[in-house]
Amino acid sequence: MGFAELGLSDELLRAIEDAGYTEPTPIQKGTISPVLMGKDLIGIAQTGTGKTASFVLPMIDVLSQGRSRARMPRSLILAPTRELAQQVSENFEKYGKYHNLSMVLLIGGVQMGDQIKALDGGVDVLIATPGRLLDLFERGKILLTGCDLLVIDEADRMLDMGFIPDIESICQKLPKNRQTLLFSATMPPPIKKLADQFLTDPKMIEV
Ligand code: AMP
Repeated sequence: MGFAELGLSDELLRAIEDAGYTEPTPIQKGTISPVLMGKDLIGIAQTGTGKTASFVLPMIDVLSQGRSRARMPRSLILAPTRELAQQVSENFEKYGKYHNLSMVLLIGGVQMGDQIKALDGGVDVLIATPGRLLDLFERGKILLTGCDLLVIDEADRMLDMGFIPDIESICQKLPKNRQTLLFSATMPPPIKKLADQFLTDPKMIEV
């Protein structure tokens, strides 16, 4: 199965070709179509398997329909570290170059004023570390009620870093009838519990 059979738009196929990829990786083969169809999903995959593109690519097509509103992100990607959040945002830039999506990166160590200004411009994709997101939420700078697509990336590292209570608190602020994708290299019991609590009938993809 090639990229063309997965249901992605022509613009994305062009960006994929520009990136030099000839074939989807196993996690991409398992993930792209279910995400396009709106399913919840658990992806068990290490870094290096192409897992970032496995959610970024279908998200770009899902989000290219519809319109953003100030301070109300339409989708949220939670990453455990600034570096990882930055890498995810670079993936959006690379694969989304033929789309016109607005993206905001909320990470610690960056001026909050600039981040708030960026949120005012409308947000299709919010990429954040949990602490900074909750901080801005508690200051009333972000509304999460319009965010119906959530990605929890590297959930096992979130666990190692003590972020599970933050993730639970964030999940509770999002609409209940959202789509949720969870990626993790391993599935220790606390991550399994998180998935049971916040995902609905998820498809499981293990590579
Ligand atoms: P990740 O697992 O998301 O950290 O991705 C690992 C690397 O694989 C990144 O440098 C991507 O640019 C690259 N990559 C992602 N998808 C493909 C693909 N289908 N073919 C070749 N390389 C890819």
